[in-house]
Amino acid sequence: MSTSKSPRSKLPSAKSHSGELLNSHSNPHPHWGAPPWHIDFTVRTKPVPPSVDFAIVGGGFTGLAAAAWLRRLAPEKSVAVFEADRIGAGASGRTGGMALAESAAGDLPGLGNVLGGLERILAELDIDCDLSLPGALEIGRGKGLAHSPIQWNDSGTLRVMKKVPGGTLDPGKLVAGLARAADACGATILEGRPVTQIEWQQRTVGHAVVHAGGSQCSAGKILFATNALALELTALAGRAEPKLTLAVLTEPMNEKRLEAIGLAGGNPFYTVDLPYLWGRCRRDGSVIFGAGLVDADDSRDLRQIDITTGGAKNLFESIERRIHNLHPKLRGIGITHRWGGPILFRENWRPVFMPHPQSRNAIVLGAYAGHGVALSAYLGAWAAEALLGRRKLPSWGSIRKQM
Ligand SMILES: Cc1cc2nc3c(=O)[nH]c(=O)nc-3n(C[C@H](O)[C@H](O)[C@H](O)COP(=O)(O)OP(=O)(O)OC[C@H]3O[C@@H](n4cnc5c(N)ncnc54)[C@H](O)[C@@H]3O)c2cc1C
Repeated sequence: MSTSKSPRSKLPSAKSHSGELLNSHSNPHPHWGAPPWHIDFTVRTKPVPPSVDFAIVGGGFTGLAAAAWLRRLAPEKSVAVFEADRIGAGASGRTGGMALAESAAGDLPGLGNVLGGLERILAELDIDCDLSLPGALEIGRGKGLAHSPIQWNDSGTLRVMKKVPGGTLDPGKLVAGLARAADACGATILEGRPVTQIEWQQRTVGHAVVHAGGSQCSAGKILFATNALALELTALAGRAEPKLTLAVLTEPMNEKRLEAIGLAGGNPFYTVDLPYLWGRCRRDGSVIFGAGLVDADDSRDLRQIDITTGGAKNLFESIERRIHNLHPKLRGIGITHRWGGPILFRENWRPVFMPHPQSRNAIVLGAYAGHGVALSAYLGAWAAEALLGRRKLPSWGSIRKQM
């Protein structure tokens, strides 16, 4: 990343990709396996604009929500989303889709009502993503509820300890809905445009130059929404820990079987003790279970991980063994999908939501620690308001410490 302070007077003209349609349905990370979600939105290929008011790096929930919200609040401002691969290529297209309240670190000063905020964003952007909020089940090996619907064998007996606000949504529909809303509001979405470098100008004033896929774009302000990738760009390398987390999908089960295993209510669940396990039902009666974290090699580049080999392969075997042992009705259950996706942990599990160390005109948002489905869209909209100077960033601590 360049830290040049010299203004550049001339930008090369943007490379034209006229007319071509990129297919958002292909899997940009085949070695991370295939999630079951479908992103039903095709981004029309456009040239990189020579300049924009707001550049957003990353086309997941965070970046797309910010883009749609920016244009909704300020239709006169130009917005471009630079996505390295396809929209939803990162965690957002690979997530479990449990919509949870608060953050991985619990409630935070000034955080507000995450689920209520998500509902409002979806309503205002006219997005239907099958959001259902019947409550999420906290399960554990301690003393559970007297009539716990869940009684599973997993290093002790797992029972429901508490029901908390939460539910599920269809992540493919949320990615597509946010992209469609951003596009309809006039934001430019650019797929296949990895941002490789930012040429920063002065810390407080002036545009920065975004280098993306062979083109350059001068941006008034920048939002970095790249989650566990591009850590050098976000200045989070060594300050937050990227991992790949794993999930599997069972074959669909009928109502009777779901009733027997305690999941007929449609509530997602997650353990409050270890070993960790989370999951949710889908509308067709199939169930997603997730657990396990895989480290990148020394390069810290999660893109190198192949889920069919090494530690990931062993973890899948362990998850599937656990699922088959949870309940007699799960003993022979078939697994139809295995996949992984990136997540980013900050030391105290609080999200990173702060100015970029290089410029007050850039914000870094992410590191939701596997708790980002509702939070990413909610904070993405907040970031849009902050970029427009209408709202302050929260004070959730600095990111100085090296991990
Ligand atoms: C398997 C799995 C299950 C999960 N389950 C849940 C759950 O049930 N509930 C929950 O609350 N959270 C869950 N999470 C976490 C949640 O999905 C994420 O927190 C959320 O999707 C993050 O969205 P995001 O937009 O910040 O990041 P991402 O969706 O990762 O988007 C980042 C985007 O940036 C792009 N990018 C990266 N580098 C560059 C670059 N240099 N230039 C341009 N673009 C770049 C990537 O291609 C990617 O599209 C899960 C995560 C995983 C992986």
